[in-house]
Amino acid sequence: MNGAQLFHVEHNVNIEYKIQTNMTIEQLKKDVRNVPDFPKKGIQFKDITTIIDNAEELCFMRDELVKMYRGKGITKVVGIESRGFILAPAIAMELGAGFVPIRKHNKLPAETIQASYKKEYGLDIIQMHKDALSPDDVVLIHDDILATGGSMEAAIELVRKLGVKKLYVNCLIELEGLDGRAYLKKKEPDVEVDCLMGIEVDE
Ligand code: AMP
Repeated sequence: MNGAQLFHVEHNVNIEYKIQTNMTIEQLKKDVRNVPDFPKKGIQFKDITTIIDNAEELCFMRDELVKMYRGKGITKVVGIESRGFILAPAIAMELGAGFVPIRKHNKLPAETIQASYKKEYGLDIIQMHKDALSPDDVVLIHDDILATGGSMEAAIELVRKLGVKKLYVNCLIELEGLDGRAYLKKKEPDVEVDCLMGIEVDE
């Protein structure tokens, strides 16, 4: 046969990957671990490793996020390095969309576009491949935590640079008391921002 050869992959239909669950958002919130003074004094670090290591909670989060975005015509889910990479591909697969990474400076191999945002000390740069999105894509940007909104604002800037008109923003956790959502609303009034749960920043 000339040209491409066809391969047939038999999926193992016996794998039971859907887990029945009575999980609730309240339970999930309780199970996020708060680590005081990490990575430095005064920061209450919200550690999601204690919810992603639980099969029931992991599937619950995926399913809840998929429910929120099904039917919106999403073609690409953009994940922000690094904790945005955990659920974004799973959501993308369920929505029948592709996954696109936004990475830290100098990590992507091909031609990139970039945006910078203010961190406590100096500027941080994030990048995305120049050919990762096209103007007719409908995009969902996902990260683990919405704090001040600075890094999400830079991610939106990257997606917009590639001409995308319709986009949604999602984080697992909104840190209440930092007004990240209000900040984004002011900067990007047309972008719908939704989070799975809200946790007090000092909780
Ligand atoms: P921001 O740009 O201020 O909205 O910060 C959001 C980014 O910083 C996300 O990628 C989070 O992973 C991380 N982040 C900010 N604050 C916290 C926190 N208290 N605990 C864990 N991660 C955080």
